Amino acid sequence: MEYEAVIGMEVHVEINTLSKAFCSCSTNFHAEPNTQVCPICLGMPGVLPVLNKEFVDKAIMVGLALNCEIASWSKMDRKNYFYPDLPKNYQISQYDLPLCKDGYLDIEVNGEPKRVRILRAHIEEDTARNTHGLGGGYSGIDFNRSGVPLLEIVTYPDLHSSEEVFVFLSELKLLLEYLGVSDCNMEEGSLRAEANVSVRKKGTSELGVKTEIKNVASFSGVVKAIDYEVRRQIEVIESGGVVVQETRGWDPDRGITFSQRHKESAHDYRYFPEPDLVPIVVTEDWKARILSEMPELPQARRKRFQTQYGLSEYDSRVLTSTRAMADYYEEVVRCGADPKQASNWVQVELQSVLAYENISIEKSPVKPGDLAELINLVRENIISGKIGKEVLRKMFASKKKASEIIKEEGLVQISDDSYIRNVVKEVLQTNSAQVEEYKKGKTKVYGFFVGQIMQKTQGKANPKMVNDILKEELEKL
Ligand SMILES: [Zn+2]
Repeated sequence: MEYEAVIGMEVHVEINTLSKAFCSCSTNFHAEPNTQVCPICLGMPGVLPVLNKEFVDKAIMVGLALNCEIASWSKMDRKNYFYPDLPKNYQISQYDLPLCKDGYLDIEVNGEPKRVRILRAHIEEDTARNTHGLGGGYSGIDFNRSGVPLLEIVTYPDLHSSEEVFVFLSELKLLLEYLGVSDCNMEEGSLRAEANVSVRKKGTSELGVKTEIKNVASFSGVVKAIDYEVRRQIEVIESGGVVVQETRGWDPDRGITFSQRHKESAHDYRYFPEPDLVPIVVTEDWKARILSEMPELPQARRKRFQTQYGLSEYDSRVLTSTRAMADYYEEVVRCGADPKQASNWVQVELQSVLAYENISIEKSPVKPGDLAELINLVRENIISGKIGKEVLRKMFASKKKASEIIKEEGLVQISDDSYIRNVVKEVLQTNSAQVEEYKKGKTKVYGFFVGQIMQKTQGKANPKMVNDILKEELEKL
């Protein structure tokens, strides 16, 4: 019997406001534990929360980017439950009236377009962070995270494989990075993905019992956890058992999911409207302002790179894979480089040096204008492409401009016909054995001749001229 996986995602995103959701404490992640707290985010009785407007701004921006309907009237609710990381015994969240609902994100899986519908995106506060196993039988609680703005994005169960989930998460992360609303750092927990997984027999439309996989620290972990969980559920059903609705954790070392607790239903949380906060009223003007502040989104930029710069779909995708790289590329072109050449230099040569030096493109010591100059020096045949790559590495080390390095080191390409011809003749004369082989049809030695010529000219001879002259001289023999 063939089975189909049915997967819905819940993604928690920490929104990068300077202060917390309901108080003025800082959200700096790297501060000492429990130094960024106040009576409000510690959950003391009698305090009054105040909603951070920038948080709502950024949540609306995400909602609009996800094609959601933005509620003109919504409210905050209390989600009641007890846990050590939640001292006031409730989380301020949204229940029946989320800020954003009914949207979608279009993705492409193996060249096939797919629309993933967004059920809702609501705002809430993060809880404190528990750290277990501190020694001596102790666990620690850091309240710095308590009250950090959180956006929970929930999809419909529109995904059917771990591969689709991976593409969806990657596209969503890219969108959030472009919007600049979160640093999306999974290791630090600013982006957390949970998957609701069920299986059903192919061709049926009824949903099976789902399990929720929580606390996976990476996209690759999510993929592996889903693959495992789908296999596990099929095995349970095939052996005559029933899948139990529950929350399951992921053990990356053993590569398995494991039962954590039976899933609560909404009624267990005793939701009710938060009486200390006023409703959120989003006017048309407010939405229009956010729309006017919204940057160009990745999918639009990808398309524009193809039409405006004549790049392939692949190149556009690579160059827009981060907003920083797309910005850098466009600046190189704006500084006068040919768009296609700039695409190659940024994607291949610049990236390899950046990776080698372990520097992000934002911090590249070679600025876009400097790279544009280098690209043009190669295009004008002042230096060869090969030397251009060396010059780029030297630009990183010395922070000098390409033209300076070329001048200082005498790297200007040799395009003098008689000079190159003399070198070619010399090489052919001193390698008569190879010339004989060549004449007998062993054309492989051609590359040997080119190597010798380039060596004698310290790689500065114009490669096209070397080829042309070498062919001419070989024909004469
Ligand atoms: Zn606080």
